[in-house]
Amino acid sequence: TITDENLATFEAFGLRKEIMQSINFAGFKTPSPIQQMVIPVIMEGRDVVGQAHTGTGKTAAFGLPALNKMHLKGGIETLIITPTRELANQVSDEIFKYGKHLGVRTVTIYGGSSYNRQMDLIERGAQVIIATPGRLLDMLSRNMLKGFTPSTVILDEADEMLDMGFLDDINEIFTYLPTERQTLLFSATMPAPIKQLAERILVNPFFASITKSETTNTDITQQYYVIEESERDDAIIRLMDSEDAKKTVVFCRTKKEVDRLSNVLSAAGYMAKGLHGDMEQRQRESVIKGLKTDAVDVLIATDVAARGLHIDDVTHVFNYHIPFDPESYVHRIGRTGRAGKKGVAITLVTPLEFKELQRIRAKVGTTMEHAYIPSKLDVKE
Ligand code: ADP
Ligand code: MG
Repeated sequence: TITDENLATFEAFGLRKEIMQSINFAGFKTPSPIQQMVIPVIMEGRDVVGQAHTGTGKTAAFGLPALNKMHLKGGIETLIITPTRELANQVSDEIFKYGKHLGVRTVTIYGGSSYNRQMDLIERGAQVIIATPGRLLDMLSRNMLKGFTPSTVILDEADEMLDMGFLDDINEIFTYLPTERQTLLFSATMPAPIKQLAERILVNPFFASITKSETTNTDITQQYYVIEESERDDAIIRLMDSEDAKKTVVFCRTKKEVDRLSNVLSAAGYMAKGLHGDMEQRQRESVIKGLKTDAVDVLIATDVAARGLHIDDVTHVFNYHIPFDPESYVHRIGRTGRAGKKGVAITLVTPLEFKELQRIRAKVGTTMEHAYIPSKLDVKE
């Protein structure tokens, strides 16, 4: 969580004035703990592994010092690898925001979007590539990126990339990269395979870890409601009506359920949209844009579709079904309570799902309060 408790300042880093302008414009007052820990070390040129939970400002933690060292004399200088297309776009937006006054140009590279357009942007002088592993490897192995020698390479949300099965692609991508480079790896969690990956591709890295209240963020109020299977739709509508939700993400287990529930919630009068892997890229982008511009209040998503997605000001996360594994639970509820704001995470469970509930409580080690579904009378019209 980003707080103002600490007295460190952005000024103290000695970043270029063009970057300071962007930081001020973004309204950032003080660097977050992970930013405080890694920015000076990255600025020294050292390889860094940074671990801090979701919403703690990891993008700026690597983005600001990476931009700060750029020469901007032509050619790609920075490569950022992210697990999903949505994240690539988010990181790109953020890098653009911080690098605007330096005139930094970015290009995103991912599947489902035209090679020509991506090549065109590179040829027209982009200096930062933000890519998903599959498409990047594809372009590298077809020799489409000639003279590609980024001096900074960043793996963002590394745990998600491994969860999604990108380890082999990542290993292969590194065979195309210059050995003379600064490598940074960021992740919300640090399981053994990530540590091993870091030891392999980074040189003498500095490990920075902010693991205070490690598993979940204390700005998130967690509750669960016990229901019968047949009550799910009714329960979620009543909870959504009674909670003062501004922006909500509802998690489902399957794509089919996402489609069905978006219809149910739309019919109940919500500005609700589904997001899942079977949708076309254009549709997905329009849903995410809708959320950002407040045209959509409720996002219904599968775990995969919502991986690492950062949407500002999500007030509520609903687990329509309890997730099977505790890791997903942590990822899901991490969509809210970001950047120091408060959030509410609500899970629906049937008596048959108590075992899952117990597993999550044991693993996550946080307090989930049992609460009761408001009666129809309590729900304001
Ligand atoms: P993470 O990658 O750690 O999940 P992000 O980089 O997506 O987190 O940052 C989460 C939010 O916090 C973003 O909206 C970002 O603009 C904002 N943010 C980052 N650094 C700061 C800061 N120092 N002060 C205030 N807000 C910040
Ligand atoms: Mg991130």
